[in-house]
Amino acid sequence: MRRACLLTVAALCGILNSAELGAANAPKGRILEQSPGYYRLRVGDYKITILSDGTPPRELSKIMSDPDKVRASLEASHETDPTPFSINAFLVDTGSLRILIDTGAGPLFGTRSGHLIANLRAAGYTPEEVDAILLTHIHGDHSGGLSSAGKPVFPKALLYVDRREADHWLGAAAAANAPPEQRGAFEQSRRAVAPYQQAGRIRTFNGATGLFPGIRSVPEYGHTPGHSGYLVERQGQRLLVWGDIVHSAEVQFAEPTVTITFDVDPRAAAATRKTILNAAARQGYMVGGAHLPFPGIGHVRVDGGGYAWVPAPYQANP
Ligand SMILES: [Zn+2]
Repeated sequence: MRRACLLTVAALCGILNSAELGAANAPKGRILEQSPGYYRLRVGDYKITILSDGTPPRELSKIMSDPDKVRASLEASHETDPTPFSINAFLVDTGSLRILIDTGAGPLFGTRSGHLIANLRAAGYTPEEVDAILLTHIHGDHSGGLSSAGKPVFPKALLYVDRREADHWLGAAAAANAPPEQRGAFEQSRRAVAPYQQAGRIRTFNGATGLFPGIRSVPEYGHTPGHSGYLVERQGQRLLVWGDIVHSAEVQFAEPTVTITFDVDPRAAAATRKTILNAAARQGYMVGGAHLPFPGIGHVRVDGGGYAWVPAPYQANP
C-alpha cells in the first residue's frame, strides 16, 4: 500500500516536472505558428505552387443571401460562423516563366492576410522572379497584394486582366454610379493597380484568350463584370483556377443559388457558378479555388440536385 502511494506520488512528481520543463523550454510565441502555406502540384510538365495568403475569419451568414441555409450548412460541417476564409493564389512555373494567378489581400485583413510573399519565399521563389500576374478579378482579396506603399510588389511583372474588369474598376462610369458603401472598393482597386498602370505594364484581354502556351482565360462573368478563370492544360492534364466561383465549400456546392454580397451581378454569378460546376463535374478536370480550404484543389461531382466537393488527396511526392 505504502509502496503504491510512493509510486503514485513519484509518478505525479514526474508529470509535474515534465510539465514545468515543457513550459520552460517551449519556444515563446512560436508554438501556434502554422507551417509555411505552400503546396506543390504538377500539371503535365508545369509545376504549380499554391500559396496561402491567410485565412481571415468571416461571418458568412451576414454576407451570404440565405443566412439560415448558411448557418445550417456550417453547423452540419462542424464549422462555426465566423469561419476561416482561405485566400489562395496559384504560381505556375512553366520552366521559362513564372506566372502568378492572383496576389492575395495584402494588408486588407490586418495580420490575418498578406502572408503570400513569405510563403512564396518559403517555396523557393522571389517576387522579382514573377514574370506575369493573371488576375481573376480586381477585388481587394485578389489584388491587394499587388502593391505596397505605392510601389509594385512584383517589380518585373506584366499584369493581365479581362478588359471588362479594368473598365469597371478603373474606369470613371461605374465608380461615379456606385453607392457610397462601395466607393472604397473602387479606390482600393485603383491604388493596387496604379503602379503597374503608371509603368505601362497592364495587358487587357477580351474574353476567352490564349495567353501563354497551355494557359488560357475562361470567362466567368457575374461575380464581377470581367471575372475570369485560367485553364492550365498540359500533356492531357487540366487544372481550372476558377477564382471566386465558390466562396463557401460548405454552402455553395450543395446550394449553388446562394450568393454573396460582393457579387456585382448576383443572378449572373449564380448562373455562371452552375455552368462551371456542371462542366467541372461532367468533364472531370481538377479545379483550384481562391476561397476553397487551402490548398483548394480537387474535383467536383454531381450530388443529388446539387454538387459536392472532392478535395484532392495530399501528395508528399508531387
Ligand atoms: Zn475573393
